[in-house]
Amino acid sequence: MGIVVENVNKKFGDYVALDNINLEVKTGSLVALLGPSGSGKSTLLRVIAGLESPDSGKIFLTGKDATDQDVRDRNIGFVFQHYALFKHMTIRQNIGFGLEVRKMPKAKIADRVEELLELIQLKGLGNRYPSQLSGGQRQRVSLARALAVQPSVLLLDEPFGALDAKVRKELRAWLRRLHDEVHVTSVFVTHDQEEAMEVSDQIVVMNQGKIEQIGTPAEVYDNPATPFVMSFIGPVNVLPVKSEQVSKFQPTHEQNGKGDLYIRPRDILIELEATTTSVAARINRIINLGWEVQAELVLDDGQVLTAHLTRERFNELDLQPQQKVYIEPKDTKSFSLDYSI
Ligand code: ADP
Ligand code: MG
Repeated sequence: MGIVVENVNKKFGDYVALDNINLEVKTGSLVALLGPSGSGKSTLLRVIAGLESPDSGKIFLTGKDATDQDVRDRNIGFVFQHYALFKHMTIRQNIGFGLEVRKMPKAKIADRVEELLELIQLKGLGNRYPSQLSGGQRQRVSLARALAVQPSVLLLDEPFGALDAKVRKELRAWLRRLHDEVHVTSVFVTHDQEEAMEVSDQIVVMNQGKIEQIGTPAEVYDNPATPFVMSFIGPVNVLPVKSEQVSKFQPTHEQNGKGDLYIRPRDILIELEATTTSVAARINRIINLGWEVQAELVLDDGQVLTAHLTRERFNELDLQPQQKVYIEPKDTKSFSLDYSI
């Protein structure tokens, strides 16, 4: 196992930042820590790194108990949101820095740096200074610098957080491809669910210092363990079953609770004709989202919900505001009463 976190607790004063965390990261895999700001992601990463010590619990790195090991002895590579490149050094010198410190022979350093420049697709830019690169290029250099010393574990804390949306998207895809090449055990912190889905093998969803769920992107999306996970992973309608109209929806899963009904906007089908299982609704508002259309619907008892449909389906139905339609959920979920809001 690459990384094992066992019963880790961490408080800052009275504030519980990590609440009994247990986690295993397989050797060579890429795991995302996903959660809102303040959920404890960075604290967990820092505890794994040895930058923060846990109040209780243990950290194992490549099978060895590292709980009391100094950060410098853990053989960890880091990439943070804010470029920590040395401004007065060239890209080549930045990448080779860790190897210089370790007194690797000059010729070997030069070879390794060339290899890394190629890996990050910046061959030819090695003599530039960080200020002569774009933000995205600088983050690639940070990654190369972290990988130079062949760390056993790579930790990335919102590495693309400061970049604009387009570059961020490009770098995600790039990071995934890179990881498929180098296979270093990696933990990637993000608050962006799409980023976590695209990049990682496993997602660890965190909330208020606790792990809510661990699973593949598909597992977390298809079988969210808690209302929090379901709401965090994308937009969702939370409908009270005490609404007379909502109670007419046919459950598509075995209902494991009597609490609210959770339905994703994309899982609401809109029809023009009634069926034995559909429920009447009125279209209140139509919002064009580009390739999707969002319809705000109102049930007869005033309950409001949101549906998303493809532009193609929208045109086919020729929907108009105030039109009467019939809706049917394709997928509903409920959670045990402990969780109801
Ligand atoms: P995230 O990375 O998910 O946004 P953090 O792990 O940074 O969350 O922080 C979790 C909580 O712990 C936050 O409420 C934060 O204010 C608190 N916290 C983090 N580091 C410290 C610290 N060194 N001292 C006091 N509180 C801290
Ligand atoms: Mg953070």
